[in-house]
Amino acid sequence: MSTAFESPAERPTLERDVVIVGAGPAGLMAAYTLKKAGKSVAVVEARERVGGRTWNAKVKDMNGTEHFIEIGGQWISPDQTRLSSLVEELGLTTFKRYRDGKNVYRAPDNTRHTYTGEALPVSDATNAEMEKLTDLLNAKVDQMDVARPWKMPDAAELDTISFRAWLQQHSDDQEAIDNISMSIASGMLTKPSHTFSALQALLMAASAGSFSNLVDEDFILDERVVGGMQSVSLKLAQYVGDDVILGSPVRQLNWATPDESTADALNNISSDVRNGVPRNGAPGQVTAYADSVIVKAKNVVLAVPPNLYHRIQYVPPLPREQMIAHQHISMGLVIKVHAVYETPFWREKGLSGTGFGGGHVAPEVYDNTNYGPNSVNAKEGEDPHGVLVSFISDVHAERMWALSEEERKQEILAELAAYLGEEAMHPIAFYLSDMAAEEWTRGAYATSYDLGGLSRWGHLQNEPTGPIYYACSDIAAEGYQHVDGAIRQGEIAANSILEQLG
Ligand SMILES: Cc1cc2nc3c(=O)[nH]c(=O)nc-3n(C[C@H](O)[C@H](O)[C@H](O)COP(=O)(O)OP(=O)(O)OC[C@H]3O[C@@H](n4cnc5c(N)ncnc54)[C@H](O)[C@@H]3O)c2cc1C
Repeated sequence: MSTAFESPAERPTLERDVVIVGAGPAGLMAAYTLKKAGKSVAVVEARERVGGRTWNAKVKDMNGTEHFIEIGGQWISPDQTRLSSLVEELGLTTFKRYRDGKNVYRAPDNTRHTYTGEALPVSDATNAEMEKLTDLLNAKVDQMDVARPWKMPDAAELDTISFRAWLQQHSDDQEAIDNISMSIASGMLTKPSHTFSALQALLMAASAGSFSNLVDEDFILDERVVGGMQSVSLKLAQYVGDDVILGSPVRQLNWATPDESTADALNNISSDVRNGVPRNGAPGQVTAYADSVIVKAKNVVLAVPPNLYHRIQYVPPLPREQMIAHQHISMGLVIKVHAVYETPFWREKGLSGTGFGGGHVAPEVYDNTNYGPNSVNAKEGEDPHGVLVSFISDVHAERMWALSEEERKQEILAELAAYLGEEAMHPIAFYLSDMAAEEWTRGAYATSYDLGGLSRWGHLQNEPTGPIYYACSDIAAEGYQHVDGAIRQGEIAANSILEQLG
């Protein structure tokens, strides 16, 4: 079989033990692990940079001063132990999120309440409902093996009901439902809570250890990497060296010999591997055709988000179950808002900068002030400028992108002001992360299954297909949809290959 990509262009051909598609944290961790074990690798990356959905950048304020921002993933929580140990191994350090002072809660009627501690300042009745739902979710999570959610006794049943409908089955308190749903729907999967299942929601909670962990912002948003989360990928890439090839999307993967017995002249189907191949995971003969290079290898690690699997042409086409499964996984949508101020004005008012309001356009806001080398003038300690970060998800994000730039900015700033006061209307720099518009991501934060997809297809997501291994945060167990999960996935894929290669 031959295509335009396979044929004429002048591209060098490399021969390696393993070719890795994607230089995000998962792909680079796979390469780092394989190279440390003495195997030869090539990491082929579509973008002109490494790091994937982690990305250090700078935004200019009205005076021309540049401020550091993290366009993608940034926080680490205490359960994300593989990422933490890697950060240490790479000689990087972390700092804590600012959390002194009172938090703000915006009730459904937009009244503003300050509070300390974990419990939101809601009525006793709503609080009791939230506690009941939290206990129910924690109990369900306890029954789940996070690596095999589809094995849970009532997995199929939990996968047929949307998370919102499940919450409504157990409560009729709208405020309680909005607040509980926020932490998984807008807060994590970044999809409306009627579009994914209760099982998918439980997986998100289980990957953080419990639902209580997931809703505890001091746990889940604990630390940031000094120098930014992309530094993890930059350090890994430094180790891999010239074997990281940038700006070169992989367009085609030749990976198996078609099974002659499958040819079906009547249906006009030529021989392929629709029913699978023998010895999944074993080394084979792989050729990856990228824009600037061809790589021949024994195994390939597909370290891209599952919504992009179909961007590669597989020769022969993947087995039918893979082709079907991949169509049931899609990206969420979220805008990460960065607003820089002359000072962290909220702190002077005794506020932490943390705010929650389930159901509002911006349901969460945090102090994201820079530190150390990322502060202006790269001073020691904290930057004197204050930075707020907020997130606008799913249908609200769609509506924001439909507005004019100025209307969008004003509406978002008004949301921040509703939490922290009128001063929030006057940032010196303002920036919106837009990974949904990036060809090599197409959404944020990550991908998840549609209703019923996880119980039906989840068991396939980490199974190799012939010499093809899959590695991405979006198919992780611990650290699911997070950098920790990506790191774990890259390492697991590399170790499995090492076992096979001997
Ligand atoms: C706005 C935002 C905020 C987030 N916040 C957090 C957070 O606070 N904490 C946290 O832990 N996680 C967070 N995440 C999630 C985290 O960034 C991801 O889980 C992580 O980056 C996934 O790593 P990965 O290697 O699996 O995939 P990616 O980072 O997506 O890397 C995949 C790479 O593959 C490349 N690629 C795709 N197709 C091809 C192709 N055909 N050929 C070659 N290369 C290809 C892409 O360009 C990309 O570089 C956030 C994500 C976003 C977008």
